[in-house]
Amino acid sequence: MAGKKLVLIVVDGMTPDTFERAVEGRRAPALAFLAEHGAYRRGTSVFPSLTPVCLSSIATGAGPGEHHIPHLVWWHRKERRIVEYGSSFAALRAAGMTQAITDTIYNMNRRHLAAGARTVYEAIDDAGLVSAAVNITCYRGRTRYLPTLPWVTKPAYGPKRFFYYSLFESDQTGAPLAVRNRAAGSTDAYAAAVGRWLVTRDGFDFLAYYLSDFDYASHAHGPSGAEEVALARVDAAVGSLLDAAGGGDAFLERYAVVLVSDHGQTIVDRFAQLETMFSRFAGEVVVCASNRAAQVYLLPGARTDAAALARALDSEPSVDVTLRLEGSEVIARRDGSDGPVTQLEYPDAAERARSALANPNAGELLVSAAEGWEFADLGGRHHAGGGSHGSLVEGDSLVPVLTVGIDAEIARITDVTPAVLTHFDVS
Ligand SMILES: [Zn+2]
Repeated sequence: MAGKKLVLIVVDGMTPDTFERAVEGRRAPALAFLAEHGAYRRGTSVFPSLTPVCLSSIATGAGPGEHHIPHLVWWHRKERRIVEYGSSFAALRAAGMTQAITDTIYNMNRRHLAAGARTVYEAIDDAGLVSAAVNITCYRGRTRYLPTLPWVTKPAYGPKRFFYYSLFESDQTGAPLAVRNRAAGSTDAYAAAVGRWLVTRDGFDFLAYYLSDFDYASHAHGPSGAEEVALARVDAAVGSLLDAAGGGDAFLERYAVVLVSDHGQTIVDRFAQLETMFSRFAGEVVVCASNRAAQVYLLPGARTDAAALARALDSEPSVDVTLRLEGSEVIARRDGSDGPVTQLEYPDAAERARSALANPNAGELLVSAAEGWEFADLGGRHHAGGGSHGSLVEGDSLVPVLTVGIDAEIARITDVTPAVLTHFDVS
């Protein structure tokens, strides 16, 4: 094996601004320690900049055009139903609770994630190394696990060492239950306990360590509010890994580190019910909206087309830009006129739009929200008054990228897995 073992830390929804402020004044001592020993840059997320899409991109090194996870909520053409990965409790209920939970926990990895998109865990375990994952929702691996709930007998397939919200556990770690109190940070407290256990035993070659509570706080309080509420908890969760190794220096002797977030967040103060804009296409389209992105699907036999759907949003203030394919060309429609996607000034916009539209599970029309706006989800819920993400705009799209002890230029979140595999000399 070339190089040190490696820990990938993914902090959901942390903006570059937050990360930079946290390390500058050493407000977050563990993050600051890592930053002092590494190289930092700002990177770019995918589109839509929503967690299931982003984590699948991080774990496979491919965009949605290759891994096929299109959004938090989408229309399954073959099964003629909506897939909902947890926009909100109300959205899960609207989609059918049992189906939505099965989609989120099992189907995203077993059925929806493209078979041809190899995950970092599959690649590492196939090479005879040991991969581990804590809480990351894109987890597909080769090892079979039964849930910790004795009355559920449906297996999941994860990495050699696998810990998922107390539901799947490859080892007994004594970690507290993950789902006790989300707002108080119990999910990351679970991750920290498992992480401490893994580092104490040096029980992996590659660890994906996913911290989700920051995003949760940022939705409720906005990106800067989350700094007050949740930054210290993120830092403590990272610090517990360093402590478990006997301190920061000892930790870095053993491990290289990649720290990223999956997407940013921006403040939202208004919301729109996008379905109402398509009422005259009733029976012809399905609208899947959540956070700051939406997709519109044409049903078989529809007498309209994506260009007409785009025009229907011309005067809608919540919509910044729509994207669609005409032949192989990506058309970006904004302010009532069509143009090439290359005219969009957002980070990596052309590449992200192309990959989103190349996804066979994507809608015929993709919608990116205007600054300050959110689209209500299937259950009518939104985060107005807090933070959100999903769009092409810079604030939703940029992520902090810190690398320590690994020689890699990570400019996009899709660069993470290729960098990790190169580090381990795995093809
Ligand atoms: Zn989020």
